[in-house]
Amino acid sequence: MRRKYHRPKQRISDVIVKQMRLLFGLAQQHLQRSGYYVKMVKRLNTRFKIKVPADIKKRYCKHCGTMWTFEKNVRVRTQKGKLVYYCLECKHFTRMPFYKERKERRKKTNL
Ligand SMILES: [Zn+2]
Repeated sequence: MRRKYHRPKQRISDVIVKQMRLLFGLAQQHLQRSGYYVKMVKRLNTRFKIKVPADIKKRYCKHCGTMWTFEKNVRVRTQKGKLVYYCLECKHFTRMPFYKERKERRKKTNL
């Protein structure tokens, strides 16, 4: 039988995003236990069907859940309008487009 999902109200989603930010802050403080905290953030995402904020999403590996500290366990390159993150822990690639940022920059230069 198909499971019913009720979209949570705005207030509930705000609380959950706040909780995600709190967990992420803890992950930044305790780098050794960051895998656990990232797992908790992912669990909130799947359970309540609420997006992980973009600024948080860019800071951890979606394959192994490690926190990225730049030039220590991640390598970032640009490639065809995308940022390519290479996790040095699990050797997986993650690609993220940056066309929104590029658009904003173009608007600023034209004005
Ligand atoms: Zn990884």
